[in-house]
Amino acid sequence: MKLVFELGSRGRRMSILPECDVPEYVPGNERSTKPRLPEVSETELARHYSELEDNIFGLNNGMIPLGSCTMKYNPKINEREASLTGFTDIHPLQDPDTVKGCREVIKETEDALCEITGMDAMTLQPSAGAHGEFTGLLTIKKYHDSRGDNARTKIIVPDSAHGTNPASAAMAGFKIVNVSSTEEGIVDLDALREAAGPDTAGLMLTNPNTLGIFDRNIKEITDIIHEAGGLCYYDGANLNAIVGNARPGDMGFDVVHLNLHKTFSTPHACGGPGAGPVGCRAFLRDFLPKHMRSFSCNFLVVVRALTYIKMLGGDGLADVSRNAVLNANYLMSLISDKYETSPEGVRFMHEFVITMEKMEKEHNVSALDIAKMLDDYGIHPPTMYFPLIVHEALMVEPTETEPKEMLEYLSDSLHKIYEQSITDPEYAHSAPHTAYITRPDEVKAARKPVVKYAFE
Ligand SMILES: *Cc1c(COP(=O)(O)O)cnc(C)c1O
Repeated sequence: MKLVFELGSRGRRMSILPECDVPEYVPGNERSTKPRLPEVSETELARHYSELEDNIFGLNNGMIPLGSCTMKYNPKINEREASLTGFTDIHPLQDPDTVKGCREVIKETEDALCEITGMDAMTLQPSAGAHGEFTGLLTIKKYHDSRGDNARTKIIVPDSAHGTNPASAAMAGFKIVNVSSTEEGIVDLDALREAAGPDTAGLMLTNPNTLGIFDRNIKEITDIIHEAGGLCYYDGANLNAIVGNARPGDMGFDVVHLNLHKTFSTPHACGGPGAGPVGCRAFLRDFLPKHMRSFSCNFLVVVRALTYIKMLGGDGLADVSRNAVLNANYLMSLISDKYETSPEGVRFMHEFVITMEKMEKEHNVSALDIAKMLDDYGIHPPTMYFPLIVHEALMVEPTETEPKEMLEYLSDSLHKIYEQSITDPEYAHSAPHTAYITRPDEVKAARKPVVKYAFE
């Protein structure tokens, strides 16, 4: 399809601006050349956006079982609340007394998130999970610095961690110590004991972890770190598995980030907007940032999250995680005759990882091929090649908002795909057969992205 710059013609406009009735801006700062904006009619623009919409796959089209991303349905009432003019038509520099309602929204959200996580203080400022990690790590650093404990330079990260964990720790100036996982996919306690010591600033962990497994030794893990003088950081990206039923604070964590765009249903994809609030225990309260980003937070994301929390209430939130776990386990049981989970024979929570290693070896059909074939069934592919410790990984997270029929449809599709892969590997290699874009050069797209229109 064409880009909007390739539509229309010189001088074409979609609206005629009224005469200016305020004094013209004092000259001095104007640009010397006119901006090259699209010159299209309203008809062209409307069709352009409709075409874009037709070519995008979103949750209103079908299921997005992207593991670790929690692509749950975003209730439309969130959007209604977030479009109220009292929330949208405000200015950050407005007299605080005129935005009392907005401040109340922020305070109520902070309080609710403290209760949900078992923390004592919360900042809503970080714009995403990774931003929250960085914030939380600086909070930990400040704490050690305040005690003159300058030897704590290392952050322990298990090998199953999300890539942002070691990246954030490195950005915050820490060295990374990797600890291995057991065959069962949980933290190896002996390796952890060996890694923890007077140079340990803290541990970063998500529980359930990126394999979808709840670490039953969690109390022992946080004790080991605390006894060594370190702090425990909870990556809350997988909170959807436990929300309303278990709290990171009760597991012994000191600092937590949440991904409001995952667990608390604000739309995400294509880069945002999101929010990654950071909570901590009372003794760390003073080390939270005062002003780190423009003004208070991604406010309308917060409005959506609070709407979601209030609509569900405490009991409703507990049902969210129960149903998320039930859906994942139901789906897994439907496909386990053909698809092998990794690790095998363990109890998964809200997501599970399958490995296509055997299929790849025997039939030369990879996890990528399977993912591409799902596209033809109207289902978004699961997360691929993550976590890194599983070969030919596909990570599946159905979320609580998918109906039983949809899970069964995904299972049927995966069974057909399995047969197709064995009988006709060439068909698998050329999938998808119905999508607008089929197999882009992903490495080139990541390394040399073209994000700017090159005018002739
Ligand atoms: C999504 C995710 C993150 C990063 O969160 P963003 O909001 O994408 O920055 C961190 N850890 C885990 C386990 C995740 O799934």
